[in-house]
Amino acid sequence: MKFLVTAGPTQEPIDSVRYLSNYSSGKMGYALAEAARRAGHQVTLVSGPTALKPPAKIRVIPVTTAIEMRRAVMQYFRGSDVVIKVAAVADYRPVRQIKGKMKKGKKNLSLKLTLNPDILKELGKKKKRNQILVGFAAEAGQKISEAKRKLKEKNCDWIVFNDISKKGVGFGSDQNKVTLLSRTGQVIPLKKASKKIIATYIVYAITRLNMGR
Ligand code: C5P
Repeated sequence: MKFLVTAGPTQEPIDSVRYLSNYSSGKMGYALAEAARRAGHQVTLVSGPTALKPPAKIRVIPVTTAIEMRRAVMQYFRGSDVVIKVAAVADYRPVRQIKGKMKKGKKNLSLKLTLNPDILKELGKKKKRNQILVGFAAEAGQKISEAKRKLKEKNCDWIVFNDISKKGVGFGSDQNKVTLLSRTGQVIPLKKASKKIIATYIVYAITRLNMGR
């Protein structure tokens, strides 16, 4: 199958030397792209800025901002059988990018932000019956209900619920603890494990446990 995976953070420029971003390392997304390739699938990885090595035998499309990520995702979406949106897309971006370096001066400074497009939600609206759409929901605390809401709201087939309040898992870590939720009501809690093992299971689940979709 053809997989499209997004990974990493996005960076939203404030001026020529500063940006808004988050702590996403890209590790979970890269692990998923590699797991899909190991399972014999053809993989395109749209990646925000990360410190990770581009994985072998995977087409990598580097992007910086949410707008660039959206453009790249829309380009490859129609030809994809499975789309996994792991990227931690910045919800907001500065309304204007200041040219050059912003000067220090005022004691208090406000930045005017505007909402970025929700790429996953847009894919949920465009998706064909035979395409499998997988989202991630990083929530602080036992907010599985929030993940269920996102599964419905963004019209996904699967959502991976990721409790980022637990120490040693999630953002930046090599380990993760997730629960898979399917459109058909399956709830599959996985034990804490390496991102590599979790990625292997996610690829198995979303391609093999899709009955009654
Ligand atoms: O609503 P929330 O940001 O928590 O949803 C997370 C999921 O939505 C992830 O799969 C993420 O990649 C995707 N997302 C997106 N575009 C945004 C924000 C989130 O595709 N602007």
